[in-house]
Amino acid sequence: MDGNNQNRGIYSLENIKLPLRIVTIYLGFGALWIVFSDSLLGYLVSDAALYVKISTLKGWLYVAVTGILLFNLISKDFLKIQTLNQVMEEKNRALVSSNVEIRALYEEMSASEECLQSNYEELERYKERLEASDERYRLVMKASQEGFWDYRVGERKLEISDGFSRILGSDCGSEENLVDEIAQRIHPEDRHHLKGFTGEEELPPNEPLSVEMRIRHENGNYRWALFHGLALRDDNGVTHRIIGAVSDIHEKMLQRERIEYYAFHDPATGFHNRDYMLELLSRRITPGSDGETPFVFLVAGIQGMERLSSVYGTNITEIIHYQIGMSVWKAIGDGGSISMLGLGRFGVVLEGGLEERDIQKTIDAVEAHTNAPIRVNQLSVSVHMAYGAVRYSGNLLAPETLVQQAETAFTHAGKLTGRNHVVWYEPAFQEEKNYLGRMEFLLRQALDLGEFRLVYQPQASSGPNAPIEGYEALLRWNSPELGAVSPEVFIPVAEATGMIEGIGEFVVSNACRFIRNLMDYSGASSKVSINASMIELINSDYIDRLIHNVTLHGLRPENICIEITETALAKYLDSVIENLNVLRGKGFEIHLDDFGTGYSSLNHLGRLPVNAIKIDRIFVWQMEKDLRMHQMTELIIKVGHQLDMRIIAEGVETEAQLSMLQGMGCDLYQGYLLSKPVSEEDVLKGVEKLN
Ligand code: C2E
Ligand code: CA
Ligand code: CA
Repeated sequence: MDGNNQNRGIYSLENIKLPLRIVTIYLGFGALWIVFSDSLLGYLVSDAALYVKISTLKGWLYVAVTGILLFNLISKDFLKIQTLNQVMEEKNRALVSSNVEIRALYEEMSASEECLQSNYEELERYKERLEASDERYRLVMKASQEGFWDYRVGERKLEISDGFSRILGSDCGSEENLVDEIAQRIHPEDRHHLKGFTGEEELPPNEPLSVEMRIRHENGNYRWALFHGLALRDDNGVTHRIIGAVSDIHEKMLQRERIEYYAFHDPATGFHNRDYMLELLSRRITPGSDGETPFVFLVAGIQGMERLSSVYGTNITEIIHYQIGMSVWKAIGDGGSISMLGLGRFGVVLEGGLEERDIQKTIDAVEAHTNAPIRVNQLSVSVHMAYGAVRYSGNLLAPETLVQQAETAFTHAGKLTGRNHVVWYEPAFQEEKNYLGRMEFLLRQALDLGEFRLVYQPQASSGPNAPIEGYEALLRWNSPELGAVSPEVFIPVAEATGMIEGIGEFVVSNACRFIRNLMDYSGASSKVSINASMIELINSDYIDRLIHNVTLHGLRPENICIEITETALAKYLDSVIENLNVLRGKGFEIHLDDFGTGYSSLNHLGRLPVNAIKIDRIFVWQMEKDLRMHQMTELIIKVGHQLDMRIIAEGVETEAQLSMLQGMGCDLYQGYLLSKPVSEEDVLKGVEKLN
């Protein structure tokens, strides 16, 4: 259809006007020329030859003129056509290029259509997913332990999720005045936080507010909950809506409280612990606060606590701890804060009263509370307190150092016999403490390195030439680094650090071997006295080990005497008494050492299964000059005899002492007058001499 239209267009009148005009002009001009030129020539030229010539020329002229005319006409139109053609061509080219563009555009469009299609599909899927996730969100909201809320500030309209209702324990999601209802349920102490959530107080922009508040459950109990809130603001920056979440963190909070509690409390007694005190001290001595205000740090503790706890066991020790802690606490009143620093030791920061007499007053108060025996079940335990103190005068010490200094002073106080007074820390104490620390370290290796040996001190019924009835085994430690260390120094360390068992084992086996050798050598029966620590004696293993060694060396129990020291604890210690009874029953002798000193008293003598008592050397040395000591010694011997016990006097150095003791009826003597403690070799040499 388009082609026909085009063709009709080409042959339209308009288009053939020009050729028609040319042809018409040509035909007209040609006809006129033929008619007029022939007539004119005929008229002018009569010569036939000339006529023909001119006629030929005229014909040529016509051809030339019409040729020029035709050329003019055609060239003009041809040029026009040419230009037109060019224009057409350009247009064509432009058309082609625009066609390319259009094609590209088309391709692009079709591609973007594809894209659009896939986007659409994607959107569809997304929509589906969104719907699913919306559903999921709703379900999660429903199922979540978390609660959600949405508060419109202007309308005071609050909506809460099921989770929130669950935390409240009641469904009040649609109640009127829900804001007020929730506000009423918040713990009064936490209510001030609410201002942030109700818009009364500005929330920080783009930052959720998080606070922990206690909220009342329907059952009336408060539970800890964590609230998050985010403020939405309008264009003017005014908060119009607050949305948030709430979760029940009650269990977590309780756990946190528990952890915090145990971090700063002694779990058994409930007193604040050492860490708490260090924390308190570090805050107290921070410069800028009251860091420059002087105070006194006092350690009040039970003397010989390690011994006490190893004898009584954990449960009873804890009760003793608690009672003593309460007494200290009552005594200091509001004047200070108390913490349990370690076994039997309480630390107290005493503010204000810095005069020594003020501190002494506090100590007197503690003494008044602690000097009555502590009753635990059937037991009645007397404890002796010791006090160490250090003065803090703004000299910026590490809290740990301050505590250690007071503890060192306390250790020194424990060594003093006098009671009821405080020892103030001195730098010299530290050196001693270092020495003891080093000693403990060296003591641990001493057994393996063979640094121990036993020496033996004879006992006889009269003077230097009397027959020897037995020997006391005494332990010696020769440390390559520290030299000869007295058992009075290292035995307590071994007792406190659990090394006494190994050492005791060494003593028992060597003493048994010694008495075996001696009896083999002399051919006569003899006895060896072994010092046993109370700590060894509470353990029934001790008896087994002793019996094992006795059997191993072919001895009889009668060859062994066990020397015990009656400490404050022993008299309450049923298991020690039981073990002593077992030993006694098997035929071992029990000797009560250091009688008359420390905690020994005649009162308890009857309760102990003892064969002999050893009068302490203090009595022997003092009785010559001190009448009271003389009378005491006499009394001890009399009572001992009445109880069917033998009396051994130790530390007898002079003839005068010996004769005085003989006059009182003493049975055995031990001391430098007879012999210093000597090695096994020397004992055997002495026997050889006698033989
Ligand atoms: P102890 O059982 O009262 O021992 C008597 C102490 O007095 C010994 O000191 C002895 O050397 C000393 N001595 C004896 N006669 C005299 C004297 O005439 N004059 C003077 N000035 N001193 C005399 P040592 O050997 O230093 O023992 C000290 C304490 O160490 C002993 O006192 C005992 O309690 C303890 N000990 C010694 N060996 C052992 C042992 O093997 N095991 C246990 N658990 N403790 C031991
Ligand atoms: Ca002894
Ligand atoms: Ca003694």
